[in-house]
Amino acid sequence: MIFILKRGVSQEQVDKFVAGWEQQGLSAFVRPGTEHTAVCLIGNTAHVDMERVVELEPIVDYARRVTEPYKLVSRTVQQENTIIRVGGAEYSPSTFPVISGPCSVESEEQVVLIAKRIKAAGARLLRGGAFKPRTSPYSFQGLGEEGLRFLLTAKQETGLPIVTEIMNQTQIPLFEDVDVVQIGARNMQNFDLLKAVGRMGKTVLLKRGLANTIEELLMSAEYLMSEGCENIILCERGIRTFETMTRNTLDLSAVVLLKQKCHLPVIVDPSHAAGIRSLVPPLSKAALAVGADGLMVETHNDPAKALCDGAQSLDLDMFDKLMDDLKTRAPLEGRTI
Ligand code: PEP
Ligand code: MN
Repeated sequence: MIFILKRGVSQEQVDKFVAGWEQQGLSAFVRPGTEHTAVCLIGNTAHVDMERVVELEPIVDYARRVTEPYKLVSRTVQQENTIIRVGGAEYSPSTFPVISGPCSVESEEQVVLIAKRIKAAGARLLRGGAFKPRTSPYSFQGLGEEGLRFLLTAKQETGLPIVTEIMNQTQIPLFEDVDVVQIGARNMQNFDLLKAVGRMGKTVLLKRGLANTIEELLMSAEYLMSEGCENIILCERGIRTFETMTRNTLDLSAVVLLKQKCHLPVIVDPSHAAGIRSLVPPLSKAALAVGADGLMVETHNDPAKALCDGAQSLDLDMFDKLMDDLKTRAPLEGRTI
């Protein structure tokens, strides 16, 4: 249930209204908007007589039931897009930031070299896995803490904010200097991790699970937001279907629908969706065309020797070309790269 407050109500009145609900064992989240402030009530609201509250509370303009199972992330609760700023990057309806970097951090030289090249090409954030969720226990598992240090060096040298995946709660103290904490597809429904990461006060990149529905992705975002996390970027990275010629199937309708249902930015990862390098540039352009808010593209200085996901990684010249292409197309969609 949400209450839309009248214009011009004071902070003191809002606080009093919120405290009243909390005394009744409910949580009340205040959502300030440009038009009006809304208060979203979470918990068992079955006993709350909505009409009576509107009648008796002088600060309430009107009330509405939120019928979706996700509440705080819903467009019903917040109509305006959430704008997220990370370092110099911005997720907004007029921007299209590109995150790029290797699947996994392999050495300091590698990640610094890639960071410099992608920055020169126009990428806004640097990605790189230090802790890697691999299907086989015998595959390269990532450099761990050392990998995080190398990412931080690359951040110092280029000024690019860094995005990297967290695999479990015990790693939280290591992520203090990380700008965007990534929750990977395989952990999208690790609810304890979602709750703990939601309390970190960081921007979170939440990837859709391999076999998860759009609604389940929104519910996972709701876990983060109900713990106080406001800055969440959703990522469509392909889902598993009967198709075997691509690694996954990129669900572009999910991007459109997510943006209709929810106020958070939605980006596309064409690399993990396709699994094939040559598909990445056309799918990136498709993402821009359907209204995605940005991209995450894997790049490598020598993809043939990559320790992880080489087949889907663009080499640095291909990335330059993709970025040139996006820079000419983005303005046609009202966006800057
Ligand atoms: C990644 O971004 O490197 C990754 C492992 O992605 P996903 O969780 O989408 O498979
Ligand atoms: Mn990868």
